[in-house]
Amino acid sequence: MSTKYIFVTGGVTSSLGKGILIASLAKLLQARGYSVTIQKLDPYINVDPGTLNPYEHGECYVTDDGAETDLDLGHYERFLNKPTSQANNVTTGRIYQSVINKERRGDYLGKTVQIIPHITDEIKRNIKLLGRKGKYDFVLTEIGGTVGDMESLPYIEAVRQLKWELGKSAMVIHLTLVPFLNASGELKTKPTQHSVKALLENGVQPDILVLRTEHDLGEGIRKKVALFCNVDEQSVVQSIDVPTIYEVPIKMKEEKLDVTVLNKFGMEPDKEPNLEAWISFLEKHKNPKQTVKIALVGKYVELPDAYKSIAESFIHAGAVNECKVSLEYVHSEGITHRNVETILKKYNGILVAPGFGHRGIKGKIEATRYARENNIPFLGICLGMQVAVIEFARNVLQFDGADSTEMNEVTKYPVIDLMEEQKGITNMGGTMRLGAFACKIKKGSKLYDAYRKELISERHRHRYEFNDKYLSEFEENGMIAVGENPETNLVEAVELKNHKWFVGVQYHPEYSSTVLKPSPLFVGFVNACINK
Ligand code: GLN
Repeated sequence: MSTKYIFVTGGVTSSLGKGILIASLAKLLQARGYSVTIQKLDPYINVDPGTLNPYEHGECYVTDDGAETDLDLGHYERFLNKPTSQANNVTTGRIYQSVINKERRGDYLGKTVQIIPHITDEIKRNIKLLGRKGKYDFVLTEIGGTVGDMESLPYIEAVRQLKWELGKSAMVIHLTLVPFLNASGELKTKPTQHSVKALLENGVQPDILVLRTEHDLGEGIRKKVALFCNVDEQSVVQSIDVPTIYEVPIKMKEEKLDVTVLNKFGMEPDKEPNLEAWISFLEKHKNPKQTVKIALVGKYVELPDAYKSIAESFIHAGAVNECKVSLEYVHSEGITHRNVETILKKYNGILVAPGFGHRGIKGKIEATRYARENNIPFLGICLGMQVAVIEFARNVLQFDGADSTEMNEVTKYPVIDLMEEQKGITNMGGTMRLGAFACKIKKGSKLYDAYRKELISERHRHRYEFNDKYLSEFEENGMIAVGENPETNLVEAVELKNHKWFVGVQYHPEYSSTVLKPSPLFVGFVNACINK
């Protein structure tokens, strides 16, 4: 079959969950045996979110090929259990960069370079790139932002043109909100009508409307929206609030969203989607036998989106262990030597989060010391592992003032440092180790117990590394390197010999945890927390 293109736009407000909706629809199509991929178009001017502060758009998600992307790609991977790549996330900055590079090369042969056709053509090229060679039956594209925003205009125009060019092979799903007014006790459709009007002003008639709501819409509202927005009744789909995002595919199946999509493409929905494994995960997730409390010690705790993939990994790992992981965010800036016990004693496990820069480091070191000295299961991710190394150097090896050169360039003991070949590179991002790298695991370690194989691949996003000049001193005193890059010998994981479960990893296991393939390291960590 020829590739079909589905565009998802959003109206009325942001944060309605376009990412979850598109991932859920893709899941249903995948569960029917189709090959699918999801792409996100972000209307901001940054080339990628790599240089953005997590307070802006939440976590920066990293793909196997080392692209720094929007956190929605994390949802796509967690739902579909398929890796994404740079091609799955395009920003306005990237579009303009590419057009300007072409202009400088003279590719436009002296023409005036304009939003239409040059920018819109570049957007269309990036969308169609994914559908090339018929690799996918469905390419689903999420348009970031809200219809009516000035910055999304070129994207909506590109969608209009593609709909025209592709005819029956393209469709637009518009996600809006039907608010409930407490005072009058009514659901209101006017915002939806206005938002569809805004789309129509740009020449786009949505094919399906998905309405986010807190209350059941009832037939009356569906009829009304259908009438005012030029769609048939079964194309008005209700998306009611549910306790977990992983239930949305089930809700969308009940609403027959996948069937409506297939019908509109003139395809026969011959079989039911196979969601067996998904439902069995949901059962376990919803019926935990016990609860473990885990503290996530980090500095972006006001914004849980900053640790999205970690939180989701705990949901996957909790289901495997048939327990609920109650994850609490603890601000590292508030932890001191004096209060660390009071703050952390109620937890079954401690995770020290990734991060950049000096803020909150002291508290992270105290939390790590507390976990080490009290035999509390500990997982340090990226900066979290580096902190574990610094803490061990200072308090066990008695390396006074040991540090990462990220925090103190002139420390006497640079136990975490830049590698020689990185020095002198000034471009932000230029020195980052990004994407998937192999890691060889030592047999007999906790890490090996978790993965049960010697060679793994996990994703990285960092600049600094364990300084192996000090490795023998660490190992002689009980902190051992249990994971190494087989090509460069860089230390990828450390653990404590005389501890129940204390593991630090330079990589980010959270990026590759999915519903159907939970991260073995998170599963192992949660298991260690249960047995406390
Ligand atoms: N700031 C550290 C580094 O660049 C750790 C980065 C991270 O935790 N992702 O090496």
